[in-house]
Amino acid sequence: MNFDVERERARFPALHQQVWNKPLTWLDSAATTQKPDVVIDAEAAFYREDNANVHRGVHALSARATQKFEAGRDKIAKFLGAAESREIVLLRGTTEAVNLVANTWGTANVKAGDEIAISGMEHHSNIVPWQMLCQRTGATLRVLPYDDRGVLDLDAARTIIGPKTKLVGCVHVSNALGTVNPVRDLAALAHAQGAVMLVDGAQATAHVPVDVVGMDIDFYAMSGHKVYAPTGIGALYGKAKLLEAMPPWQGGGDMIRSVTFEKTLYAAIPAKFEAGTPNVAGVIALGVALDYLGSLDREAMYAHEDDVLAYGTERLLEIPGLRMVGTAPQKVGVLSFVIDGVHPHDLGTILDRHGIAIRTGHHCAQPVMAHFKIPATARASLGLYNTRADIDRLIDGLLAAIKVLR
Ligand code: PLP
Repeated sequence: MNFDVERERARFPALHQQVWNKPLTWLDSAATTQKPDVVIDAEAAFYREDNANVHRGVHALSARATQKFEAGRDKIAKFLGAAESREIVLLRGTTEAVNLVANTWGTANVKAGDEIAISGMEHHSNIVPWQMLCQRTGATLRVLPYDDRGVLDLDAARTIIGPKTKLVGCVHVSNALGTVNPVRDLAALAHAQGAVMLVDGAQATAHVPVDVVGMDIDFYAMSGHKVYAPTGIGALYGKAKLLEAMPPWQGGGDMIRSVTFEKTLYAAIPAKFEAGTPNVAGVIALGVALDYLGSLDREAMYAHEDDVLAYGTERLLEIPGLRMVGTAPQKVGVLSFVIDGVHPHDLGTILDRHGIAIRTGHHCAQPVMAHFKIPATARASLGLYNTRADIDRLIDGLLAAIKVLR
């Protein structure tokens, strides 16, 4: 097998449109990926043929919806390398997954004097829930530093992660820098101190293999929309023994075994954390997106993405006054940069007129911007469907924008 990018591009209908009378060049996959036909069709087919609520009905459609929904959970478990499907909690996405851990595991296990250690390159969704927990409990938030390439300082991590540490949190792949972090090493450091390891996998699932058991991760958060599936669906992987010991968070239907006005007995995992009607179509479509990825030669796909990333880096550096932000040797998917004398927002606006979609701003990682002493970057981010030709269009667009803006 190998990876034929043109064949795969043809499967993503949104890529084949004109914006401002120019062919769309989608370089914003870190914000959200485009969706292949099979995913769009799966979502529509659910509403056309199977639409019913899950887990409660005795009729045929509910049974069918439940079977497909649970098959989606099985596919996510397999994709992440989980030992069992009941270790997969189906949620809105990474943000909700981290908040769930902070509000359940955190409330039960963190007290005044304890420490939570997170990397300095986290997305706000893996910072703010821990700050809120620290405010509630009197625990302290510690930050694991990184260097000016965006490489985590493991020696510093060894001195910060200590007996007071209860949880280590780290982004698997940074959305602002593209760094692939050594989460297996961090997990070993955490476990040596009796702490648990939470990984924000939002940006990783599309670009690197994930193996939660092999990496010995305790909690792994992901978002479907970053991996060619719909928005509003994602998952939290948690080791069964941790999930079982955690109190529930949201109360409601589906998460109970029995309810009286005196007492409620909770359901077993994962239902204990899945109050209310879930995004049934989203789970099924996420399963289809993972099937789609599974049908590809993933090694060849990663090699293709590496090639476009390397080509993009090389070509961007031809632009006078351009500085790459995030130059870690282990890097995927993201080309973040600033250009002397040009504001990233202006660049983004002009590129849009050329049909080129990039992201500009702080990328929900303001501490990363503070580290590099910049307010914002321009970020071109890649999906499996991007090509060297997309990079060439980006460079032409940037050169045209600079002429106008400088
Ligand atoms: N973490 C990282 C690294 C991200 O890039 C994102 C989204 O941009 C998130 C977390 C939040 O994901 P979601 O908005 O899908 O919950």
